[in-house]
Order: sequence, then structure tokens, then C-alpha cells
Amino acid sequence: MAKNIAIDGPAGAGKSTIAKRIAKELGMIYVDTGAMYRAMGLFFHRQGVSPQDEAAIAREVGNAQVTIRYENGQQQVFLNGENVTAQLRTEEVGRMASKVSVYPAVRKKLVELQQQMAAKQDVVMDGRDIGTVVLPQADLKVYLTADSRVRALRRVGELREKGQECDPQEIEREIRERDYQDMHRDESPLRQAEDAVLVDTSQMDIDQAVQAVIRLFEERRAEWK
Ligand code: C5P
Repeated sequence: MAKNIAIDGPAGAGKSTIAKRIAKELGMIYVDTGAMYRAMGLFFHRQGVSPQDEAAIAREVGNAQVTIRYENGQQQVFLNGENVTAQLRTEEVGRMASKVSVYPAVRKKLVELQQQMAAKQDVVMDGRDIGTVVLPQADLKVYLTADSRVRALRRVGELREKGQECDPQEIEREIRERDYQDMHRDESPLRQAEDAVLVDTSQMDIDQAVQAVIRLFEERRAEWK
């Protein structure tokens, strides 16, 4: 049986950085589900479909083929055969992803793909509904969070490193808006699964957070023996 670690939490909690490191240390595959929703967001943006137009989204979703491949251990996302990985990490695509991810037609398609991937191989999968919907039987579920001010400041640091100037208050406002949207939608809202372990990284650096999750996994592993 493939081993699965599910990591959920709000935007900017460090999920992808931490999950990627955990996967590497444990020899598992990292699956970034946010990138799949971002690819869908990009698709509808390119098609000129409004994120408010649920009928058009349900009609068009069948024309969006999202596939995942790994190149040198890095996840690459393909949209209808085109590698769009480099275009997914903008705030605009993130907002679009958050808007289109509320629709069952979009979620159903991506959840199936995620479940297939996790059944075949050992994965560390991060997202918003992994512990609650995608992998309810995961071997370890973690809810990774941090104070919204801390998350905004981390994001500002990342953007500045890339040479992009930004307003920290504006970034925090966007983060809170996206959290609200993700936590209050009808379909698979972001919430901590009952059996998930809460890890608050407000006072931790990346190394400490990675080690905290690995310790939890080792504890689980000891219980199986
Ligand atoms: O994690 P990331 O910021 O890349 O996710 C982009 C958006 O995709 C999130 O704000 C959320 O609305 C959506 N998402 C989701 N379910 C997931 C992963 C992401 O609804 N499993």
C-alpha cells in the first residue's frame, strides 16, 4: 500500500516549501494540488470565461486537460499538452484558481487525478481538502498554519527576492480574502480534519517545521510496526 501524507492549510503557510522538503527527506513524491487549480484558473482566464459564470465553466471544463509529469523530481503541470508550470505562481492566477475551485465540476476532475496519483505511489500532497476529501485515509494528516501577518511578511520577502516591490498591507489583505473564500465555500471548504495534527509555524523556521512533521510521521511509523 502506498503511504500518503496530507498537508492542508491556508495560503502562505509554507505548505509547498515544507511538503517538498519532507518528500525529499522521506523519499516520497511531492504533489502540489494548488498548481492544478491554478492551471484550471489559467485555462478559464485564457478562454475569457468569467469565474462567476458557473454554466460556462461546467460546459468548458471538459476541454481542459490537466496532466502532471515529473522532471528531475520537479512537478510539471501541463494544460492541454503545454507546460504551464512557470505561469502559475502569480497572484492573479492564484485569485482565479480560488474563484474557479468553488465549482464541483472543477473539483471532481482534479480530485480524481489526485486520488489516482496517491494510490500508485508514496506521496506528500498539499492543498485545502486533502485530509478531508481527497485522502481521508492518509497515514498522517497535518494542518499547517501561521498568523496571517506572518504569512504576509513571508510572501513579501519572497516577492522582494524576485525583485518585485509590493505593499505588505495589500498582501495581507489579499491573503485574508483568499482564506475567507477558501474557508466559506460550500464545496470542500478549507478546514482542519478531525484527525489532523495542527502545526502552527508562526514561530518556526522552515527546518523546524519540516522536522516537526517528520517526527510525527516517524511516530506513526513506529505504531505500525
Ligand atoms: O495552494 P495554492 O495557493 O497554489 O492554491 C491556489 C488556490 O487553489 C487556493 O486558494 C484554493 O482556492 C484552491 N485549492 C483548492 N484545493 C486544493 C488546492 C488549492 O481549492 N486542494
